[in-house]
Amino acid sequence: MQNLCILGSTGSIGKSTLDVVRLHPEKFNIVSLSAHSSVELMFAQCLEFRPKKVVMVSTKHAEQLTGKLMTANFSDIEVASGTCELETIAQDSATDTVMAAIVGASGLLPTLAAVKAGKKVLLANKEALVTSGAIFIEAVKKSGAQLLPIDSEHNAIFQCLPSSAQQKPGYCDLANEGVSKVLLTGSGGPFRTWQLDELDNVTPAQACAHPNWDMGRKISVDSATMMNKGLEFIEAKWLFNLEPEDIQVVLHPQSTIHSMVQYKDGSVIAQMGNPDMRTPIAHALSFPERIESGVAPFDFFSAKSFEFQAVDFIKYPNLKLAIDACKSGQGACTALNAANEIAVDAFLNEKIKFTDIVKINETSVNKFVSEQVTSIEDVVALDKSVRIFALSLITQAKH
Ligand code: NDP
Ligand code: MG
Repeated sequence: MQNLCILGSTGSIGKSTLDVVRLHPEKFNIVSLSAHSSVELMFAQCLEFRPKKVVMVSTKHAEQLTGKLMTANFSDIEVASGTCELETIAQDSATDTVMAAIVGASGLLPTLAAVKAGKKVLLANKEALVTSGAIFIEAVKKSGAQLLPIDSEHNAIFQCLPSSAQQKPGYCDLANEGVSKVLLTGSGGPFRTWQLDELDNVTPAQACAHPNWDMGRKISVDSATMMNKGLEFIEAKWLFNLEPEDIQVVLHPQSTIHSMVQYKDGSVIAQMGNPDMRTPIAHALSFPERIESGVAPFDFFSAKSFEFQAVDFIKYPNLKLAIDACKSGQGACTALNAANEIAVDAFLNEKIKFTDIVKINETSVNKFVSEQVTSIEDVVALDKSVRIFALSLITQAKH
């Protein structure tokens, strides 16, 4: 029996994780769950999975949940609030495995707490790794935590690697394993066939309507700008100990191949399947065994086409910005991630245009690119300063 903590259980990845868990009651036990403010859904999850403890980040929502659980005679479930409590459940000795599925840099400290406690960490929260890079990987190395990628591309790459490399994500030596390149696939998002001048008037609903994947709102906008692929480029660098030159982005609109590894003898190994996050989640939960995920088998005979294209960086300037940040260093990556979170939130709240996102990101990276980031305190401080700066750009843009 594997004892699980799910950070962000009410989100898209959190719900898909519980879908897989539901199929295997004999294999997984839910110890703890967390959310920000989704009281109703968390209440339903408590009734079904009976965790020992739940954290709601917001105090008001924790009180509401406590009241509902008491009325339903479930007062044995402990409800806590506040961000420190996220770290407490992530490092709890009753937990073996932590699913890191909070969105954004808010997931950094709890995910790092799980790493430092030597847990098996299933990493969906790419922003945590992007914003802290080498510091995060050093912590993995030091504690011996088992890090398994959930992001479909990174999970695919992981599956295409020899087991010697799978044992040590973050500090594997892929050149020594015969790998010549990692090919990161991306669909190009909902606006792949749109003209550049049409993008100014994109609405949040259009940006969130991804052609192949059903995801949370922030990552959906990131997929539309291809910042998501940029964050994944940086994530791949850290997870697989690569140089930027070793990673190539390939547009593949059907999202059937989830990424590939090219070897020096000319072989290319790809991982394929229907675009459904329950596959990488089931893979990581049970690794190295294979379990049912609930995902239908891929049907080759109904697949209409199978295309590949080079990336147009003029159309996707956020991707270019992220690759450049990856080459520049940690200050640029931390700044880019923070600015992007603020810009995407402003776009979703209709305060800026879709095409303003890249302007805020670029101005913020240029301002903070030379900041030195060598400790987690540096990351937290820089993240905070960039958010204040990016917010000021949004306020200026409105006046
Ligand atoms: P969602 O927005 O659907 O869910 C986010 C979860 O985090 C919710 O449980 C939410 O709680 C909680 N949360 C939100 N803000 C905070 C906060 N400030 N502090 C603590 N908890 C918070 O996101 P996704 O599930 O789509 O994405 C989660 C992570 O996984 C992201 O990093 C994303 O990049 C990554 N990922 C997602 C994929 C997908 O298919 N969705 C694919 C690959 C990676 P509440 O419900 O109360 O708001
Ligand atoms: Mg992905």
